[in-house]
Amino acid sequence: TFVLFNNQITERENVSIDMEDRGYNFGDGIYEVVYIYGGKPFSMDEHFRRFEESARKLEMKMPCPIEELKEKTAELIQANNIHNGIVYIQMTRGASARAHLYEKEAACLITGFARKMDPPAEAQEKGVKTYLTPDIRWLRCDIKSLNLLGNTMAKRIAADHACGEALQHRDGICTEGSSSNLFIVKNNEVHTHPANNLILNGITRQHILQIAGEQGITVKEAPFSTEELQAADEVFISSTTMEIAPVISVEGDVQATYPIGSVTRALQKKLKDKIKQNRVH
Ligand code: PMP
Repeated sequence: TFVLFNNQITERENVSIDMEDRGYNFGDGIYEVVYIYGGKPFSMDEHFRRFEESARKLEMKMPCPIEELKEKTAELIQANNIHNGIVYIQMTRGASARAHLYEKEAACLITGFARKMDPPAEAQEKGVKTYLTPDIRWLRCDIKSLNLLGNTMAKRIAADHACGEALQHRDGICTEGSSSNLFIVKNNEVHTHPANNLILNGITRQHILQIAGEQGITVKEAPFSTEELQAADEVFISSTTMEIAPVISVEGDVQATYPIGSVTRALQKKLKDKIKQNRVH
């Protein structure tokens, strides 16, 4: 297994991480996950643009130009001979004697791995059960930070209720999933939380907005309540690893079941088409 360590592709066992790496001590770092279809990364430019954006918001200094990191990521995918799978790239603020104050000029550490994985066909086809829980996360969910305890706790609660994903709400306003963006459909209109500090602006979310525009489907990027979630005609979630998955039920703070509707299916199909086009280019 080959991994990325700084600017080197090397065997995984050659890598050692300092006990006082700030990613390890403080979760002081950022990451991206890119899906690889047929050996080709999908939306690599968009993911790395967001990576740079997260770095800028946290005043982290990139150790190399982003183009170089993209090249190394492509090498990593090749070295591991990934046909379908993911590549994970993270950057921490590196090692220094443990202290809260960060230095803006700190040498950041980049690591990455790639793994084979097939798209979750069953979730895409049959849909997922979800569990709605309060959003206990911080107020900078727009940053793709390594600090994911709010997300992991929500996912655990969902799993404890035999649900595949947690949906979150902040004081009755639905934000997003624990590792996905959330959409509802009402009277053939799509609603999703605006891309502000309360959600991660998913790359898949952005594709969906574009596709909906092309298909003449109205999308409202406006807050919606847990009551509106309950009363929705269709619900779906999106992420890089899931693409679009229909939501068939919600439990927890509200309860409802949903059919897998035509809007969800249409967007799902168009996203698959877009991914296929990427493969042949
Ligand atoms: N929101 C959260 C909290 C996430 O973790 C993810 C997946 N990384 C998403 C949304 C979806 O983002 P993307 O489509 O870029 O994978």
